[in-house]
Amino acid sequence: MQTFDFDLFVVGGGSGGVRAARMAAQRGAKVALAEVADMGGTCVNVGCIPKKLYSYAAHFAESFEESHGFGWKGEAPVFDWDTLKANRAREISRLNGVYVQLLDNSGVKIIKGWARLLDAHTVEVDGQKFSARNILISTGGTATVPAVEGREHVVTSDSMFDLKPFPKRLLVVGGGYIACEFASIFNGLGSHVTQVHRGELLLTGFDDDIRGFIASEMGKTGVNLLLKTEVGSITKTADGLLVKFKGQDASFTVDTVLYATGRVPNASGLGLEAVGVEVNAQGAIKVDAHYQSSVPSIYALGDVTARVQLTPVATGEAMVLVDHLFGAVAGKKARSISYDFIPTAVFTHPNIGTVGYSEAEARRKFGGITVYRSDFKALKHTLSGSTERTLMKLLVEDATDRVVGLHMVGADAGEIVQGFAVAMKAGATKAIFDSTIGIHPTMAEEFVTMREPVKPL
Ligand code: NDP
Repeated sequence: MQTFDFDLFVVGGGSGGVRAARMAAQRGAKVALAEVADMGGTCVNVGCIPKKLYSYAAHFAESFEESHGFGWKGEAPVFDWDTLKANRAREISRLNGVYVQLLDNSGVKIIKGWARLLDAHTVEVDGQKFSARNILISTGGTATVPAVEGREHVVTSDSMFDLKPFPKRLLVVGGGYIACEFASIFNGLGSHVTQVHRGELLLTGFDDDIRGFIASEMGKTGVNLLLKTEVGSITKTADGLLVKFKGQDASFTVDTVLYATGRVPNASGLGLEAVGVEVNAQGAIKVDAHYQSSVPSIYALGDVTARVQLTPVATGEAMVLVDHLFGAVAGKKARSISYDFIPTAVFTHPNIGTVGYSEAEARRKFGGITVYRSDFKALKHTLSGSTERTLMKLLVEDATDRVVGLHMVGADAGEIVQGFAVAMKAGATKAIFDSTIGIHPTMAEEFVTMREPVKPL
């Protein structure tokens, strides 16, 4: 039988790759992981984690403001961008170290450098060749910027965490997760933010009520939102970056232009073509239900497959793959993952939390559905002076009474929706929601006390 240096060679030390490497090594496999940059990938270094830290920072602005109604007196403290950057950098390097330690402790050999496939079982890193029974590509994705005049002047989300100096005037292009989150964050931190989106509503794919509501709430917080607007050109001037819009006379001068117009898979420069690994039209590696590519010994998961670009999906896929390749944990069934009812949050101000189908999708898929919707001012804001409102929405399939969509815009929506996602995975019906006792007084209790459906059109 052919022998190999490793049972599994992982290319890319992001969320999915690190999880797969650790779990496989803990299962007794001989594992190597190659990473060219800091360990942890997008999520740890320039994604979820620093973004959430900056979102916390931004929320203080409104908290100081709102505290007056509760009797707190005095001027709000002054924000110091350099302190936030330094503290974030320290925490991220601590996490980089934790990832390395977790891999070391599991017995994974870490190889620093750029990996290229030479054939179905051989990887080369900086001139050194390694053979492996199985190879996993978990190289993630990269922000993409469309061809626009002055493209060289724009930045992507990767650069936003370390901007120097702080952008007093920021233009954000895009209407997806990243654009909305960064618009909210920098608005909270004190930038004058204009967000430009080509569509009529933000956040394509989300429930339309949520999309309209978040635009109005972000507008209230101070984000200048320009819908159905496209950038024509960006020119550097003595005063900053002059941005002109297509078909309009209006222009803006800003300090920074952030393009958050989607992410593409990191599948080039890995030698995939030569080895015969097929990619789709978007450049994502094609895989089957077991994450196997067109070359049987080569697997791929996470953003490089561009199925669902979310960290917990990549880590979930990694555990399924490890069970598939090396067997399930003793006494347990092999894990599987289903791509429906994946909960997600957008860390806008206020947050969005969602699980299941949008109203339009639910009507298409289930036919008859009943909609419950509640739009209210949270108790906190009876004294805070804030005009923020909360939206909650439930979609129920008429034939089964199952709750098939649950959506929220409001404080801590991500935290609230996670728990409801468990109920919905378990197939909870509206009757079960109705029989659940609320926790009073919370916003979340509204999800179990909605009784009157929205009248059908
Ligand atoms: P998205 O795909 O979510 O959004 C891209 C946005 O850019 C859309 O509004 C799109 O418009 C717009 N766009 C695309 N091409 C152009 C163009 N040529 N000109 C103008 N606008 C354009 O990508 P993101 O970059 O925001 O995020 C990538 C992924 O990362 C997300 O889909 C998500 O899966 C993940 N992510 C998750 C987060 C979380 O869980 N909180 C946070 C951040 C990212 P249109 O809608 O019209 O196509």
